[in-house]
Amino acid sequence: MFQGIGWRISITFVVLILVCMGGLSAYLLHFVKGNYLDNLRAQLAAQVQLVGDACKTYLEGGEIEKIDALADRLGNKSGSRITIIDASGVVLGDSKRNPRTMENHGNRPEVLEALAGGSGSSIRYSTTMECDMMYVAVPIVVDGEIAGVARVSLPLAEVNESLGHVNRMIIGGTAVATTVAILLAVQISRATTRPIKRLTQMSNRMAHGELGQKIEVTSQDEVGKLAEAFNLMSARLKEMVALLTSERDKMAAILSTIDDGILLVDGESRVAVVNWAAQKLFRLSGDKMVGLTFIEVVRDHELDSILQQCLKTRKQQTKVVETEPGRRFFKVIATPLDSGSLVLVQDISELRRLETVRRDFISNISHELRTPLASLKVLVETLQGGAIENGAVARDFLCKIDIEVDKLTQMANELGELSRIESGKVSLNMEPVDVEGVVKRVAERFKMQAERGGLSLEMDIPSILPRALADGERVEQVLVNLVHNAIKFTLPDGKVTISAAAEGDSILISVADTGVGIPADELPRIFERFYKADKARAGGGTGLGLAIAKHIVEALGGKIWAESIEGKGSTFTFTLPMAVKP
Ligand code: ADP
Repeated sequence: MFQGIGWRISITFVVLILVCMGGLSAYLLHFVKGNYLDNLRAQLAAQVQLVGDACKTYLEGGEIEKIDALADRLGNKSGSRITIIDASGVVLGDSKRNPRTMENHGNRPEVLEALAGGSGSSIRYSTTMECDMMYVAVPIVVDGEIAGVARVSLPLAEVNESLGHVNRMIIGGTAVATTVAILLAVQISRATTRPIKRLTQMSNRMAHGELGQKIEVTSQDEVGKLAEAFNLMSARLKEMVALLTSERDKMAAILSTIDDGILLVDGESRVAVVNWAAQKLFRLSGDKMVGLTFIEVVRDHELDSILQQCLKTRKQQTKVVETEPGRRFFKVIATPLDSGSLVLVQDISELRRLETVRRDFISNISHELRTPLASLKVLVETLQGGAIENGAVARDFLCKIDIEVDKLTQMANELGELSRIESGKVSLNMEPVDVEGVVKRVAERFKMQAERGGLSLEMDIPSILPRALADGERVEQVLVNLVHNAIKFTLPDGKVTISAAAEGDSILISVADTGVGIPADELPRIFERFYKADKARAGGGTGLGLAIAKHIVEALGGKIWAESIEGKGSTFTFTLPMAVKP
């Protein structure tokens, strides 16, 4: 309770006031008493002179017996006790007692002083009067010799009574002044500490998050200046917190839009901050990740070793890591921070896949070119070697050369087409397309080819089929490709069926055959460029047809897929959006 600055100030004030007032009243009491006694002494000194003068005549005339009566008279008039003593200390007269019964007074201090020639005074206990008294004595000189001593005395009880009254007034006044001073001191200390208490309350509120507290400035003293400084600090703090919050929000927004995983790790390898991409990469929610160690999050020792290396060497570490399971490729950059590290994880699996596709593509092209080019080379060399002289052989060779050149031309055309579709350079003429009409045109086109191959080519189209929103020519191109493959990979007596149907808001178009089918493990790859499921049976195909079909269908806003059972047949289906949604 007495810990507060207010109490300390109050107690200090109170002690100071008590000490000062106590000292002052003690001094006053002493001063007043001294002054009072001095006055009294002066009064008694004047009286005793008169008494001495009055007695002098009797001593000169030897009328000793009249002296006691004189003392009585003077005593009665002055109200003091009057004593006359001769040079040997014998009391000659006393206003209060019978001198004959009184002992020798020659040894009394004031009498001794007077007998020595001066004026003597003393305050002491009177054995005669049995109380404290003030004495003043003067010598009575007769013919140049000290013949006796006149003494006047007054009981101090009276003096003390008068002094007591004055003392009570001094003490009472001091007590009142002290009380008023103490009350004022307490009031001042309260007024001084009130704003400090208010500041403490405000600071506590700010500590609990209630920023922007403002205190009223009521004075220009130190406490007022403290309040001003507090208000300034509070406003600045609020601004700073707002700034930091907006910076943090910006940072969070940036982090959340970055596609690469970002993890902020402390010196103990514990994850402190993660972005959305990191949560997706490591399939853990942010709440779960924060607080875990890096190895617990990434579950890969190679990834963890990059971080450990960074924390140990305090140098940036960059590495590409292949993780299991799922065979994903991560490029990891660990950058040292003041304490801990910032780890950036890029999923480069797709990049790697595309690189592989590009490499395969180039090797496939070179392989596909090498075969016809090798044939051409052989044919040309054979002709140069003399076959040209033989007209029939020469014509046959030229025919074969023509076929190989056609193949190369087809491949060049298809590659050009694929690249144009892939790069989006092909302009699509999107309009409502009568799918039945397209199917009929394609069936008509392949009628002869199917008959030649001993196959039946059928159509299965409902009487009412909504129109598709597509480019009619491109749809025909896809269908030609699929029917061409179906006829190519179906043995005589087989059947190829082109069907169309409406499903949801799409039109489904299928080409089903009873052909050789595609092995299950190869099915997912047949839409890749240059992919030929069964090289032996692929005939003269380039392996680009399905890739082109897939790109066209996707450009038209549809999907394409294949189902197949090896030895039984295949069904290729693609969808097109309906022109008018149902
Ligand atoms: P290609 O020009 O070689 O036919 P595609 O891209 O059209 O190239 O076909 C790729 C591969 O898919 C073919 O080589 C073949 O192995 C397989 N394929 C396509 N259609 C069929 C089908 N109807 N029946 C069996 N296999 C097929």
